[in-house]
Amino acid sequence: MLRNCSALSRFEPMEKILNYINGALLAPISNEFIDNINPSTGEVYSYCPDSDERDVALAYDAAAAAFPAWSNMSVNERSNILLKISRLIEERNDELALAESIDQGKPLWLAKLGEIPRAKSNIHFFATAIEHFASESHAMGNHAINYTLRTPIGVVGCISPWNLPLYLFTWKIAPALASGNCVVAKPSEVTPMTAYLFSKICIDAGLPQGVLNIVHGLGPKVGSAMVAHEKITAISFTGGTKTGAEIARIAAPMFKKLSLELGGKNPNIVFADCDFEKTVKESVRASFTNQGEICLCGSRIYIERSIYEKFKIEFVAQVKALTIGDPLHESTKVGAIVSKLHFDKVLSYVSIAKEEGGNILTGGKAYKPEGNCANGYFIEPTVIEGLGSECRTNQEEIFGPLVTLQPFDTEQEVLEMANSTPYGLACILFTENLSKAHRVAANIKSGIVWVNCWLLRDLRTPFGGVKQSGVGREGGWEALKFFTETKNVCIKI
Ligand code: NAD
Repeated sequence: MLRNCSALSRFEPMEKILNYINGALLAPISNEFIDNINPSTGEVYSYCPDSDERDVALAYDAAAAAFPAWSNMSVNERSNILLKISRLIEERNDELALAESIDQGKPLWLAKLGEIPRAKSNIHFFATAIEHFASESHAMGNHAINYTLRTPIGVVGCISPWNLPLYLFTWKIAPALASGNCVVAKPSEVTPMTAYLFSKICIDAGLPQGVLNIVHGLGPKVGSAMVAHEKITAISFTGGTKTGAEIARIAAPMFKKLSLELGGKNPNIVFADCDFEKTVKESVRASFTNQGEICLCGSRIYIERSIYEKFKIEFVAQVKALTIGDPLHESTKVGAIVSKLHFDKVLSYVSIAKEEGGNILTGGKAYKPEGNCANGYFIEPTVIEGLGSECRTNQEEIFGPLVTLQPFDTEQEVLEMANSTPYGLACILFTENLSKAHRVAANIKSGIVWVNCWLLRDLRTPFGGVKQSGVGREGGWEALKFFTETKNVCIKI
């Protein structure tokens, strides 16, 4: 992949990624590195630090030392430093997008137009939000007045996944830093590159040393050392439900503040009274953007029986037209699956779906592009019908380019089907009937509902899931409240 691409001139092949601790770029104490693989070629193209609890301890010490000055800095000064970081992300958009596309397998245009601009917005949003963050007061007639003090927690931990690497990394770090905390952060070892480039941006922006520390490495080593560290008293985690449960198991008895954004198995409900053309187009987007590797993708599509055949024919036709292949090509709509491990997992669900009696309407196989990407991890966008709600394919998170179609007859029936999984992150529904939209939205068990759209995001809104999709909310004031301690002061008059 690194061959034949002049756009990569600013990007060092076989670069050793470094930790960012106390303002400096450092090799891990072990001096061991993990191979970082480009998923569209299957080749090692850089190395990620294999850090351990010693690096976490170093990062904590740096963060603790930086905390008094950072937390006492005026909000305006903190905000200005963060704004500088956001400007540098914007200036380096194309470099970061290229790195993200190579590291993760996503189409380059998607990283350029969507994800890196969103990382910039995350920092910009919280840099400005903090200037408007206020707390309440409660007067008790003429007897007393209560006011709420919100103060930074101290040193907090942020752990993020591989699917939207810089986007989700900054989504946590920005509110944590804006509200005056110092941070020990761990990006996914599967996609460490843009967090490394981000550490260089922080240096260039003049972020004081120790305020943010980025420790790269494996989850069970670095992540669990952060969770177990007795002085890191809050953890904001985004990732799989199983990992979230493991983190809660360790952190809950230590009484840490926890925000857990976990897996999803989101329903996409298509009523017969929808705007048909827009619905099919948006459903394709909601199914296969980023190879279906977005926790918010709709992977169970329920279609009202009277339009089932019509929807199926048009949906499958549009899915077949999606171009798969080299993420760096402008025409590519579906890039590479992030890793061999995940590629094998997604394909294993095709086998499970077949065993369960599913009928594959399109896809269902690995895809082998010609040229540089011949050994990459590509899977055809896959559509399956004929499976009931109770089967594994419709219950378990697959997190790849695989969706199922199921017909339904009544609103009550589709609500039961939609609510039948252990997850409750997001729901998408398509109808032109406003009352129906309100009714279904109110009865769906999920933290987010999109009506006649998907992934339309306002950063002020609460973001998160119910059931096994998580605990707590990110976004807007919710994130700033999470990253601050709340104290009531009652003064008798
Ligand atoms: P993962 O749980 O394997 O890893 C997430 C992060 O946790 C990584 O940085 C990893 O190194 C770290 N980690 C792993 N084991 C750990 C441990 N024992 N202690 C502490 N940290 C540990 O998830 P993933 O495979 O990187 O990401 C995919 C998952 O993330 C999917 O389930 C997806 O739905 C979920 N996700 C959720 C949201 C959301 O907002 N709810 C957003 C994106 C992704």
